[in-house]
Amino acid sequence: MPRPIRATVHLDALAHNLATARRAAGDAKVWAVVKANAYGHGIERVFDALRAADGFALLDLAEAQRVRALGWRGPILLLEGAFELRDLELCSRLDLWHVVHCNEQIDMLATHKTQVPHRVFLKMNSGMNRLGFKPAHFRAAWTRLNALPQVDEISLMTHFSDADGSRLGADGIQHQVAAFVRATQDLSGERSLCNSAATLRHHDQALGTGEGIDAAGSLTADWVRPGIAVYGSAPDHPAHTAAHWGLQPAMTLSSKLIGVQTLAAGDTVGYGSSYQATGPQRIGVVACGYADGYPRQAPGGLAFGAPVLVDGVHTRLVGRVSMDMLTVDLDAVDLVRAQTGLPPADLGAEVVLWGRSHTGAVLPIDEVAHAAQTISYELMCAVAARVNFE
Ligand SMILES: *Cc1c(COP(=O)(O)O)cnc(C)c1O
Repeated sequence: MPRPIRATVHLDALAHNLATARRAAGDAKVWAVVKANAYGHGIERVFDALRAADGFALLDLAEAQRVRALGWRGPILLLEGAFELRDLELCSRLDLWHVVHCNEQIDMLATHKTQVPHRVFLKMNSGMNRLGFKPAHFRAAWTRLNALPQVDEISLMTHFSDADGSRLGADGIQHQVAAFVRATQDLSGERSLCNSAATLRHHDQALGTGEGIDAAGSLTADWVRPGIAVYGSAPDHPAHTAAHWGLQPAMTLSSKLIGVQTLAAGDTVGYGSSYQATGPQRIGVVACGYADGYPRQAPGGLAFGAPVLVDGVHTRLVGRVSMDMLTVDLDAVDLVRAQTGLPPADLGAEVVLWGRSHTGAVLPIDEVAHAAQTISYELMCAVAARVNFE
């Protein structure tokens, strides 16, 4: 029998979450962001559930080829654009739309031989300072692109650094919106600004706000680019939960109890003996470790241990996460089970590391990520190749 750890992708949840993002986006078209192999869920696995998207956004050319191989004829956007001239040939051949974020990419386009001009998304660096043209250089880039026979339609985009928080102003994005709107006011073309956080939190905000700025419509503009929301996690946890946004978990990571130990006062658990029992206690050993992608830095302990579900009942990690196993308190589980006349949890009991239990109980991935001092994105993307998906 294979090790009992598995990842389950919930197609109905993906479709539901996409529809939820679309509802928030108003009239805007929706890119389903499927970079990093659909945030670890598997592009081929999620594709059918996300067919209702207006396009797929990603950044790996091999992933773009996989989306085309699935029969998708609609828009595909390369979020980082071309890395070398050869990439533009693939863009021509597969009809990929691509971001243009620097002068070198415009140089590349100028030397590219193509029958069919490309649809490009010109990216502004409105404050994130990763990719894109600064507002002062944006128009010059647009003018250069617009003069190229290799270029068809030019769309305008930017990306927020703080759409999930409140740093730098009331909603974390106002200075970037203002920079974008000011520098694009009289340029034609579709616009795309919002990731999941901006789509959910700021969709009713007007695009053109502030002194000397005049742009019609809402922040969601022509295209939104939700990623994490589609996979059922709150982009702004812990300020809000996924349930608050009406999102459902798209992935369950589950395993089983493969061992049970009964401890006496003073007994310790696992490497480093970081957990010590203060009295008699049952603990469960779970077939899941950091080599499966579970975060090693997730804490163990009765008060602050990372949350886990055993047969749908909430409990916590105790002791350190090791390569192939982790350990959980069973006393909290057995107490709840006893109330409904159930025997103590035993070998083979279902353990949910995040997602949905067979009982219907949900353990949000955001809570696990929070306990491990990381974000859900990292956990989803880190599920190891040795974990079987279903
Ligand atoms: C990853 C990415 C997104 C999606 O972000 P989420 O926070 O997952 O919604 C949107 N736009 C760009 C440019 C991205 O790189």
